[in-house]
Amino acid sequence: MNIVIISTEAVPFAKTGGLADVCGALPVQLAQRGHQVSLIMPGFRQIRAAGRDIEETDLSVRVSIDGREIAAKISRSTLPDSDVPVYFINQPELFDRAQLYGDEKGDYRDNCLRFAFFSRACLGAITRLDLQPDIVHCNDWQTGLVPAYISEDFEQHPWMNRAASLMTIHNMAYQGVFPKENLSLTGFDWGQFHHNGLEFYDQINLLKTGIQYADTVTTVSARYAEEIQTEEHGCGLQGVLQARSESLFGVPNGIDTGIWNPQTDPHLAANYSLDNWAEGKNANKRAIQERFGMEVDHEAPVIGLVGRLAEQKGWELVIESMQHFLASGHEAQWVVLGTGAPHYHDALTQLAEKYSGRLGLHLGFSDALAHQIEAASDIFLMPSRYEPCGLNQLYSLRYGTVPVVNPTGGLADTVVDTCEQTLAEKTSSGFYLSTFDAPGLTAALSKALRIRSQEPEKWSQIVTTGMQQDWSWGRSADRYVQIYGDTAARKGRKVRI
Ligand code: ADP
Repeated sequence: MNIVIISTEAVPFAKTGGLADVCGALPVQLAQRGHQVSLIMPGFRQIRAAGRDIEETDLSVRVSIDGREIAAKISRSTLPDSDVPVYFINQPELFDRAQLYGDEKGDYRDNCLRFAFFSRACLGAITRLDLQPDIVHCNDWQTGLVPAYISEDFEQHPWMNRAASLMTIHNMAYQGVFPKENLSLTGFDWGQFHHNGLEFYDQINLLKTGIQYADTVTTVSARYAEEIQTEEHGCGLQGVLQARSESLFGVPNGIDTGIWNPQTDPHLAANYSLDNWAEGKNANKRAIQERFGMEVDHEAPVIGLVGRLAEQKGWELVIESMQHFLASGHEAQWVVLGTGAPHYHDALTQLAEKYSGRLGLHLGFSDALAHQIEAASDIFLMPSRYEPCGLNQLYSLRYGTVPVVNPTGGLADTVVDTCEQTLAEKTSSGFYLSTFDAPGLTAALSKALRIRSQEPEKWSQIVTTGMQQDWSWGRSADRYVQIYGDTAARKGRKVRI
C-alpha cells in the first residue's frame, strides 16, 4: 500500500506529547511490513535540533489564502533506522518559532492560519511529489481539514480522487476551535459552514471537520473509542462520533522498544533485565537520589511522575496526596518531571522547597531524565482524569515500575489491578484508584506501598508480570494495515495488504 502520514509531531523532529512517539514509530513499522510510507510535517524550528541530515529539494508549494499567496519550500530527511522519507513544509513566518503551538501567553493567535496553510500545503506536496497515496492518515485537529480537502477539491484529479482518508484522534480535548470569521482562511465558503461540515456551535471546529469528512476515524485505545461517544468524555463531539460509530475504531499505541529498553537504554546508570531487575533498579535509584540530593537508601520507595502539567493528568490529586504523605513523615521519596500550567509549577515548587531531600523536582522537558525516572522508581503515578492511550504506563511496565492509575481509557486497557483474583491468576500489573480523588489516590498508593514492603514475593510477581508483557508496535501496526486496507477497499481501491 502507498501511505502518507500527516502529523505536526514526530520523534525525533518535534514533540510535545505522545502524538510524536506514535508518528515517529508507526511509519517505520509500516515500512518494515513492505508498505511505501511518507511522513509530512511542518518545518518547525525544532526539527533542526534533531541531529538528522535535512536536505533541500527543489520543490515548493503555493497556497492562496485570503487573496495572499503563501509559498513554502519542501525539504527532506528520513526517520532514524529506516528509509522512510519525512517531508517538511518550510514556511518560516508560520513555523520558525520558539514553540509548536503557543507560548506563555497562550496559543499562537494565528493557529487557524498556520494549520489551514499546513493542511493545504500537504496536499500540494502530495501532488508535487507524485506520491499517489492509497491512504492519507491524518492526526489530530491540526490536520482536520485534510479529509475535507480530499473529499471536496480533488474530484477531477487523476489519482487523488481515489485516495482514502483516515483521521486519528489522539486527544478529544484539543479540537482546534476558531471564530467563524476565520472561515476564509480554510478556503471553504459559507456553503460548507453547516452542522455536517465545519460548523460547531457557530464556530469552526477543525477536529470535527476531520471526523466528519474522513473515510475512517480511529483513536488510540478501544476503551477511549467507547468513552468518547459519551457525554463525559466526548468533549461535545459525542453525537458526531456516535453518528460515525460504524467507522470508528480503537487501535492502541505501541511503544518503541528500541528506545525504551532497560537492557540497552543509554540514559541509565545501569542497564538491567528481567533477570536482575531489583539490582538494576537499585543502581538507578541511587543515581536519582544523588542527583536530587535525597538520602541514598535503596529501601526507601521512590514514586515517579513524568508528564505534562495539565489538568488532564490529575495533578490536583497528586499534589494533595503527595502533601499528605510528605507531611506524615512517610519514608517515600518523590521524583517529578513535568512542564505546563504555571499554577502547578508554583504548587510543586513550594512543596519541593518545603520538603527538599524528599521531593526531587525538575520543571522542564528532559528526555534523558524521563528514562532515568522510569528506571529508578518503584511506583509510577498516572491518575489521569482521562487518558486516550498513555505511553508512560507502558514504559513503566517494561521498566519494572509498578503503575498506579485511574482506570480510564488506555490506562484501563493496559494495566490490571491487583486483587486476590488477579494475583492468583498472575495477571496483576498495577493498582487502580477506586475513586477519582485524592483519598482514592492515597488509598491505591498506600496499598501498593504496603505490598511492596510487607509482601515482597507478591511485589516481585507484579513487577515481573509487567516486564514480560509485549507492548511493542507489532500488533498495532498490523491492525492499522488492516484498517487502511478496509478503508481503501470501501473507496473502491484494490490494495495489497
Ligand atoms: P500525552 O500525549 O497526553 O502527553 P502520553 O503518556 O501518551 O501523554 O505521552 C507523553 C510522552 O511525553 C511520553 O513519551 C513522556 O515520557 C513524554 N513527556 C511528557 N512530559 C515530559 C517531560 N517534561 N520531559 C520529558 N518527556 C516528557
